[in-house]
Parts: sequence; C-alpha cells; structure tokens
Amino acid sequence: MLQLKHLMKTYQVGDTVTHALDDVSINFRNHEFVAILGPSGSGKTTMLNVIGGLDQYDSGDIIINGKSTKNFSQTDWDAYRNNTVGFIFQNYNLISHLSIIENVELGMTLSGVDSKTRHQKAIDALKRVGLGDHLQKNPNQLSGGQMQRVAIARAIANDPDILLCDEPTGALDTKTSVEIMKLIKELSKDKLVIMVTHNPELAQEYASRTVHFQDGKILSDSNKFTPDKDIKDSFNLIKTKMSYLNALKLSFTNIMTKKGRTFLTAFASSIGIIGIAIVLALSNGFQKQIDQTQTKTLSKFPISISTIATDLDPAQRSKDSDKNVKNKGFLIAAKPDNEKNIHENKITQNYINYIKKINPNYANNISYIRSVQLNLLSNNAGKIKRIQFSTLNNSGSSLVNAQSQGMASVGINSSVFPTSLDQSKGSFLKNNYQLLSGNWPSSKNDVVLVLNNKNEANLNSLKNLGLDIKDGEKINFKKLVGKTFKLISNNDYYQQLPTGNFVPNKLTKSLYNKGRTITLTGVIRSKNNSQMALLDNSIAYSDALSEAVIKENKNSNIVKAQKKSSTNVMTNQAMNETEKAQFIASIGGSSIPNTILIYPNSFNSKDKVLNYLDKWNKGKAKKDKIVYTDMSGTVTKLTGGLLSGITDVLVAFAAISLITSMIMIGILTYTSVLERTKEIGILKALGARKRDITRVFDAETFILGVFSGALGILIAYLLTFPINSVLYYITDMTNVAQLNPTHALALIIISTILTLLGGHIPARIAAKKDAAIALRSE
Ligand code: ADP
Ligand code: MG
Repeated sequence: MLQLKHLMKTYQVGDTVTHALDDVSINFRNHEFVAILGPSGSGKTTMLNVIGGLDQYDSGDIIINGKSTKNFSQTDWDAYRNNTVGFIFQNYNLISHLSIIENVELGMTLSGVDSKTRHQKAIDALKRVGLGDHLQKNPNQLSGGQMQRVAIARAIANDPDILLCDEPTGALDTKTSVEIMKLIKELSKDKLVIMVTHNPELAQEYASRTVHFQDGKILSDSNKFTPDKDIKDSFNLIKTKMSYLNALKLSFTNIMTKKGRTFLTAFASSIGIIGIAIVLALSNGFQKQIDQTQTKTLSKFPISISTIATDLDPAQRSKDSDKNVKNKGFLIAAKPDNEKNIHENKITQNYINYIKKINPNYANNISYIRSVQLNLLSNNAGKIKRIQFSTLNNSGSSLVNAQSQGMASVGINSSVFPTSLDQSKGSFLKNNYQLLSGNWPSSKNDVVLVLNNKNEANLNSLKNLGLDIKDGEKINFKKLVGKTFKLISNNDYYQQLPTGNFVPNKLTKSLYNKGRTITLTGVIRSKNNSQMALLDNSIAYSDALSEAVIKENKNSNIVKAQKKSSTNVMTNQAMNETEKAQFIASIGGSSIPNTILIYPNSFNSKDKVLNYLDKWNKGKAKKDKIVYTDMSGTVTKLTGGLLSGITDVLVAFAAISLITSMIMIGILTYTSVLERTKEIGILKALGARKRDITRVFDAETFILGVFSGALGILIAYLLTFPINSVLYYITDMTNVAQLNPTHALALIIISTILTLLGGHIPARIAAKKDAAIALRSE
C-alpha cells in the first residue's frame, strides 16, 4: 500500500517559485487503476516522479507498505525504482541501440538476475503484452503502439507492485489507445496502476478511481481510501548493481551504432601511440645494432693482461684538462705521459691458475700469448728450409714478432687460438669457424690455415711457409691440406761452438727427421657474422703446442747457458734484465705467458669478469697488483647514454600528442554524455545507481582506449616495414625499427588508462544528471 502524506515539492527558477506539489496527501490501494487528470503544469508528472523516486520531495512523506521513505539513502531509492515501481512514458523511452528483448531485460540486468532467467522473463512479459511474434525486431522497426507495448513489458518484467504511467496514450491514435488502456487495465488486477492522462473519457471508461489535480493540489478524488489501522512495515528491497561486463555490453552496442565516428576518434587518438611506438621501435633497433657492434668490438678488444701495462686511472684522466695553465714563472720536470703510469705486472703461475678458474659462463675463451719461437723446418722435395707461422714479411730468423710486442696494447689478432675453458660449450674453432677443406685439428700437433671472408690467405704467411708464390695466385686446397712440417727441439736446432756461443745447426735431412711432425690439417674461415672471429689471417695453432715446446726446451742447453750468462749466448751482445728475460722466453725458457687475453662471452658478463680480476688485487700492495686493460669500456658507455637520451626526448614529444588525444577523448565522452542524456534517465528510472552510470561511460572510454591503443600499435607495426626499407636504402642497416611486444602491450595499457582518465570526468557528470530532468529532455 502506498501513502502520500503532506508532500511538498517546489521548483525555483530565478525569482519564480513553482509549487509543483502543494501539500498532497492520498492513499492508494494495493490493486487499483487510478487515473490522474488535470491541466498541463498542475504537477501530475512531478507527483509520478516523486512517487517513483526519480525526483525527491521537499517535505512530507511517502510510506510504502508501512515503511517511511524519509530516511531512504540514494541506493535505497535506486533499489526501490528497480524492484517496486515500473515506469511507462508517453514517448516510450526505449533505448534504440538495444534490441527489444535487451530493452525489456535492462531492469533485471541492473538487479543482477542471471541471463537465462532474465531472458525467459523478458519473453514472458513480451508475450503478455502481445508482442510474442516480434521478438527479433529492433525498437525502430515497430509502430508507436508496439513501442509502447515494449515499454509496458519492460515496466512489468521485474514484477513491480506499482506501475506509473505518464500519459501512455498521449502519442497514440484512438484505436491503439484503447488497446493499450485494455492492457493496462488487465495489469491493474494485481498491481497498483497510477496513470496520468489528458483524456477524461478513457479515464472514465477504464480507471477505477479518478483524481483531479490543480496547481499542485488534489481537487477531487472519486474513490477515496482510508486504511483501517496502521500497517506493519512489510517492505524489503533487493539492492541493484550493474556488473562491469554488462556495462561493457551496453556501451559496446552503443559504440556499434556510431562506427564511423568511433573509428575516426580512435584513429586520431592513436596518433600519440603511433609516435611513441615508432620512436621506441627505432631506438630499440638502433640499440640492438649498437649492442651487436659492441659485442663485435668486444671480441676484438679483449681484456688484456700484459707483463707491461699502462695503469690509467679513469678518475685521474677525466680531471686532466686540455686548457693551458697560468704562466707561473717556473717549469715542472715530469715523466713522459707513456712512462708515467707504467705498471709491471708480475704474472705468476698462481695468477694463471686463478685465471683458469674464471667461470666459463662469463668468459669461455682465453688466449695465452707466449714469446716462444717455434723452430720450424719444411722439406720441399729434399730442400730443407726454415719457416715460420707468422705473417710478417721476413722469412729470416728474427722472430721478435707481433706476439711479443703489440699484443698488450690493442687487441691484435692472434695466431694462437684460445683455450676453451668449458669444452661442453663446443670448441672455440668449431663455434666460430667453418671448415673449408680437410679436418679440424685433433691434437696439439695439428695446425690450420685461416682464410678471410674472400677466401684469401696472407701472402706473407704463405711465403713464410716456404711456398714460392705470387700475389693473386690460386692454390688448390689439396696442395696445402695434409702438408707437414717439423718442429725441432733446441738441443737439435742449436749447436754450441767451442767459443761457447750457440748457433743454429746446418739444415740437413737428418736434422729435419729428428723433429716433431706438425700437420696442416685443414683450411678454415670464420662463420658469417661470427663475433669471435679473432684469428689472424695465417696459420693458427693451439696453446698446447707452445706449452709442449716450452716443456721440451725449458732445460735445453741454450736455455741453461743463457740463464747463467749476462750476455746473449748467440750474439755476445750485452743485455739488461728485461732483455735477458725476453730472450730466455723466446727460446722457450719461461712457462709464463707475456700476455693473457680474456674474451668475455657477452657485454654483460664482461663486468663479472672484471669483478673477478679485481678480486685478485684486493688487499694487495700496489706493486703486486695485476693491472688489466679494458679498451672497450669507455666507448660503449658513451654511445649507450647518448641513444637513451635522444629516445627520452622523442618519447616526450610523442607523449604530448598522447595528452592531446586524452583531452579529445574527454570531449568526445562529454558529447556522448549529452547525446545519451535520455538513456541516463531511462537507466535511472530502471534503478541504475550513480556508479552504474559512471561505469557505463567508463566502459565506453575503456573500449575506445583499448581500441585506439591497439589501432595505434597496428599502424605503428605496419609503418615499421616502409621505415625499415627507407633506412636500409639510406644506411644499409636491416630491420632497424622493431616493435618490442612488451612496449606494445605497455602502450595499449597506457592509452587505455589515459583515455579512462580523460573520459572519467564526463562520466561523473553523467552520473550526477538529474533523472527527472533527463527524462523530460527530448
Ligand atoms: P504536468 O505534468 O501536470 O503538466 P509537471 O509536473 O510537469 O506538470 O510540472 C509542474 C510544474 O513544475 C510546472 O509549472 C513546471 O514548469 C514545473 N517544473 C517541473 N519540473 C521542473 C524543473 N525541473 N524545474 C523547474 N520547474 C519545473
Ligand atoms: Mg506531465
């Protein structure tokens, strides 16, 4: 039972105050058909809206089934609208982008009825209003009478106690009006129907009670009702709540009605995303190129540890200025720059053992450069000749070669291939080289010839092997592979003269035969793009071979004699300590290498290797420290920082357009809010909470955000192809622009969040819209 007690409602616009409801008191039976008559502007709609909870009364009370609504909260009113009342309007108020069934289901969708029940109830309601045959149609395919039937089905689907009809036949012809009136009368059998009408005849014929209204007051009442006693409070409400999924569905169907505009908006707002995505893709690709170059450079610039090192303190170096200092009237005596920081590394067997324990995951390849000469002989059809494996153009005896001198400074290629610490990672040679002919070396007595990528061998190194050839000559692999040489021990190679001096022996067949056989087993070439192709363009042999030679010669006569003598035992020249040590090393008297080259596996593992090397020096006195040279370090740090700086600036520029799109989405959502004012009113009439309305518009911007983000990424991805071909044309670099999937995902998320932010304020505005005013709007 519904009771209105001294209801007051005034509207104030400027100075005009309208008493739309002026002390209205009336009781309604649970089942009756009440017609409200009265001139336009007398407050009929206002009363229906107040009863229906679409509008709030100023004072008085509405009592439903004994429950006062004075202390109703906003959500109580929402639930009340949803469960207890059903609205029928003159202009039907269907949502045109939803199907008939969806329109009817909407109230139940809001109260969380599951979709199966919802659907069944909607069909039942539509059958009840006589629309069983039109279920598949859209609202705009129906006649006015049919639309009003849909509206009635919607109002009764949730089985409310009260039906509020505001001029339901106002827009219909007489015949249709009669049909609708019959339908409403039928419904009033088990409901309270309150109907506002302009038509006294219809009221007379169908309604069971007629109430006349004027100036917000009740003039007459044909069938007054006074309840016997106080009614017990038997009122309860089911709270409503629209799920995110339903909000999405609702917005999605709405968006689908304006595909063209949505696409254009999404495209415009995706431009920021496209900009950022392309900047990131380019920077990503350039960084990859730089990294690759760095790794290549890295392998060419190993960490080197030499007996003589330059101890460059980077902190000190950066403080050194190129500017002239003041003329102070005096000069300063100083060591030359290259002597200033000379540090003598005492490489010991202990240190070598330490190096051998480097984690192979960080640096698997280590070269030991030794000064030992190889006493090599070749036999060309009985002609015995001295030969050497170096590329230097001096087929003579002086083997003060590249190894003993240059190695320390810059990573010059080596003819000794690195020892691989962990053989399970494959041998260094097989990993980085391809075999063109013959076999891979399988013992320390096997050597290989290394060609460059044009299949050229260094002419000098071929000459040094005793081959008599000219520049440009072609040599069949068969002529070389399998060729053997002899490596002669010191005791056989040198003879001691009666003077005590040592000289090389005469080259005879018997001397040749005494040697260890060295076989050229194969011809190799670096794999395409191998970043570790470090071998010199000449003969390469294993460190094990030099170790074997040292082992054999360590106690040879010449070494023993040289160790005792202060002058050169071959030339009688005077030598200082360093020269003596060098000479002893060159004849195999020292097992300590003069240079160790460590090749880190990757750019990152280099730091680990350096840490490991630093650990050795911890707590040691300066003179006992081992100083290493890391040439690649400074260069790479610089390029890395530069690129990320440029990227940041470009991303910042592109981000500005992202903000622009965010504002645009905000404007668009606001337009959409204005357009959908009516829909907001309908949703509220059906019991939607403020939050549900916000949710519907948030869902719309969410869809827009995801769509424009995804569209931006798609366009950016497609753009990488032409960009890459242009870049290839200009720079010869392939595949520079590469969109990182993580970046792509992050950008879609950012686009969604930004559009949500941009659209949220209009969404809040929508939620605040007054339902009664919204429904009055056309
Ligand atoms: P009826 O439905 O009987 O034609 P209404 O209930 O719509 O009359 O209006 C009653 C009075 O209240 C009218 O004078 C109308 O102008 C006024 N009114 C209704 N709604 C508003 C509003 N939101 N703001 C100001 N005045 C309003
Ligand atoms: Mg009205």
